[in-house]
Amino acid sequence: MAIMLQEMIVFVEDLRFVRIRCAHCNTTLVLDLKGAFAPTKARGSFVPKHCPMCGEPYDGAVQPCVESLHGIYQELLKLEKGITFTGEPESTGAAARPDASGAAKG
Ligand SMILES: [Zn+2]
Repeated sequence: MAIMLQEMIVFVEDLRFVRIRCAHCNTTLVLDLKGAFAPTKARGSFVPKHCPMCGEPYDGAVQPCVESLHGIYQELLKLEKGITFTGEPESTGAAARPDASGAAKG
């Protein structure tokens, strides 16, 4: 029996933009990971500490995580197409997915 698998391959350069949503006003800030700095007055950091719309601070984990991501992204870009990302392979057959069997209803 053959099972067909679909695999989505994502290149590093395709993961270029990161979106940060403000928990207070729901404004979404889009940062370009290819860029050196976010459009903010706070030079020296890629990610602003505060929402540019309402001024509330982002979650304290956002800035260090996205700063790290930015640094790693810049390094991965140097490898060009040598590294790609994939998600879980998706089967086209329902039998390969236990949650698709219909047994767990309710
Ligand atoms: Zn906000």
